Amino acid sequence: MPIRDPALQTESQAGKTTGEHETQTLSGHEAALLEKYRIERAKRIRTEGLAQFRKSEGELAYFLEDPYARTPLQRAPMQNEVDVVIVGGGWSGMLTAIHLRQAGVKDIAIIESGGDFGGVWYWNRYPGCRCDVDSFIYMPLLEETGYMPTEKYAKSEEIRAHAQAIARQYDLYRHAVFQTRVTELRWDEEAARWIISTDRKDAIKSRFAFVGNGALNYPKLPGIPGIETFKGHSFHSSRWDYAYTGGDANGDLVNLKDRRVALIGTGSSGVQCVAPLSQWTKQLYVVQRTPAVVSIRGNKPTDPSWVSSLKAGWAKQRMANFDGILAGLVRDEDLVDDEWTDLWGPPPPPPAGADLSELAAFFQKIDIEKMDRVRARVDSIVKDPATAEALKPWYNRFCKRPTFNDDYLPAFNRPNVKLVDTQGRGLDRITENAIVFDGRSYEVDCIIYATGFDLLTTSHKAGGFEIFGRGGQTIDQKWAMAVRSLHGIYTHGFPNLLFVAGMRQGCPTVNFPYMTNEQAFHAAQVVKRLLQDNVRVMEVTPEAENRWCEIIAAKSKVNVEYIRACTPSFLNAEGDLSELPKQAFPTAYGGGPFEYIDILRNWRERGLLDDLHLVRE
Ligand code: NAP
Repeated sequence: MPIRDPALQTESQAGKTTGEHETQTLSGHEAALLEKYRIERAKRIRTEGLAQFRKSEGELAYFLEDPYARTPLQRAPMQNEVDVVIVGGGWSGMLTAIHLRQAGVKDIAIIESGGDFGGVWYWNRYPGCRCDVDSFIYMPLLEETGYMPTEKYAKSEEIRAHAQAIARQYDLYRHAVFQTRVTELRWDEEAARWIISTDRKDAIKSRFAFVGNGALNYPKLPGIPGIETFKGHSFHSSRWDYAYTGGDANGDLVNLKDRRVALIGTGSSGVQCVAPLSQWTKQLYVVQRTPAVVSIRGNKPTDPSWVSSLKAGWAKQRMANFDGILAGLVRDEDLVDDEWTDLWGPPPPPPAGADLSELAAFFQKIDIEKMDRVRARVDSIVKDPATAEALKPWYNRFCKRPTFNDDYLPAFNRPNVKLVDTQGRGLDRITENAIVFDGRSYEVDCIIYATGFDLLTTSHKAGGFEIFGRGGQTIDQKWAMAVRSLHGIYTHGFPNLLFVAGMRQGCPTVNFPYMTNEQAFHAAQVVKRLLQDNVRVMEVTPEAENRWCEIIAAKSKVNVEYIRACTPSFLNAEGDLSELPKQAFPTAYGGGPFEYIDILRNWRERGLLDDLHLVRE
């Protein structure tokens, strides 16, 4: 996740940076590393760019199936009308519904493809799955529910249970339409209603529609030739097949003890799966394209004496402190105190009054120090020198979402675990019974794809549906050249539609629920007011949208530079720089979360009537 004061360093800056206030010179070691980063990046740039992935459709559609829903749902199609439809029952949809209910808006339908609330935590139940940020900031509404996570980094099942407890406490189940996939949102001009169609033949009318289905819900498959020819068992990490592996999220994968398994992908999910898989498989091949940054986790049980010392308001304060540190806005206090927030290392602070290039060199040096430690950690744990060398990441620390794990690297010392390092290329092909790299075939019984999600796409695409606004225009048509919105929430041509926690032109935070909650609260307040004022149609003006696009362009410059120089990932459209204007992170508001929250509040109080065209009933 990019940060505001990143260790950006363009090639032309390498080796020298001087300024009025302080001279920053990169050492020979540092300059050589940047050259290595450049070479490693070049190996990973693919001409296919984003087209390298395969969709879970056609003969691969089974990768999307829900292995967790206990009972098949049978119900008649719905044709009712509500004030608000919310697409998605993860944190975005749940928090939006809660804030709407608290604002007095209770005629709501939450449409969710899974069989319960929880979103990513409904789907991601793989062994080893845990929160990758501090549970005390990640899990929403802790003070309101009186719940305390049992560990600093809670397990998936604990987070899912918390989501369900929230849904019960806030009476969300009465609004839930589960096991139902939205196929289309279509604006009915005459009725001034959204018509929401689903795979269960529903046609629900709604005055307002919220798209809050997140970004991590469409499993992505690699475009490895032959993937469809594999005759063994295969599934995506977000659809873990415990019927095949045995056991549960805590391990006991007893059915794998005679099996050879390939795990493809070493991002946040892959890194968490490796240790449990290594304990239960006869042979585990970990297929790596780009090594992850694997930092110390240091998980621990919750300390009751710390809990009893907390004062009212602690949870929000801790959330703001964390994302404030990551945005470079807070330096005096570190409440979470983990590897995420250890951005700077020991002082000194950045040179006072430094210009952008001085800051760039300053942060680059710190980044290199950190990454040297990450690489040294690999050497200190992994015994086989060739494997250790292959596991070292060569890019700046926030080019990919960093991972934190104390069991991943030791797993490579086990005799049944082999790293198949594809040096940036990926596998050559998959056959009926094997994975193939560099002319060598590795026979396997099972392939597990920990290859991530289609986070690069827009929210509605991630949810697998289309949105038709005024005159039948689709969002993709409107955003063909670049994303256009106000605050990442409203877009002209699509009346009465609000995006919550979309990745574009808003301000996504490393701790996702923090900004999601702020946006959900804001959007609920706006809709409450529109309903109170009997507004039939609300549409953001093109002028307001233009103004926000200009602000985004001005504020995102630092992020864009950083992301451009990164190794390919979902942050930079897999290195396809022509795609950047449409992509999530380069179009994020670069002024940091506090500014963005202030902008929303001020606008709600003063700007709303100027920027929204309103037609009353
Ligand atoms: P990801 O970060 O996108 O990682 C996908 C992995 O698949 C990468 O290692 C990628 O390699 C690899 N890959 C893609 N195509 C390949 C190919 N053809 N051959 C071999 N490898 C290939 O996905 P993820 O790990 O599921 O994580 C996605 C996001 O989910 C994270 O950024 C995080 O926000 C969230 N997440 C959070 C948690 C948590 O809180 N516990 C856990 C899991 C995920 P390259 O690096 O070379 O592209």
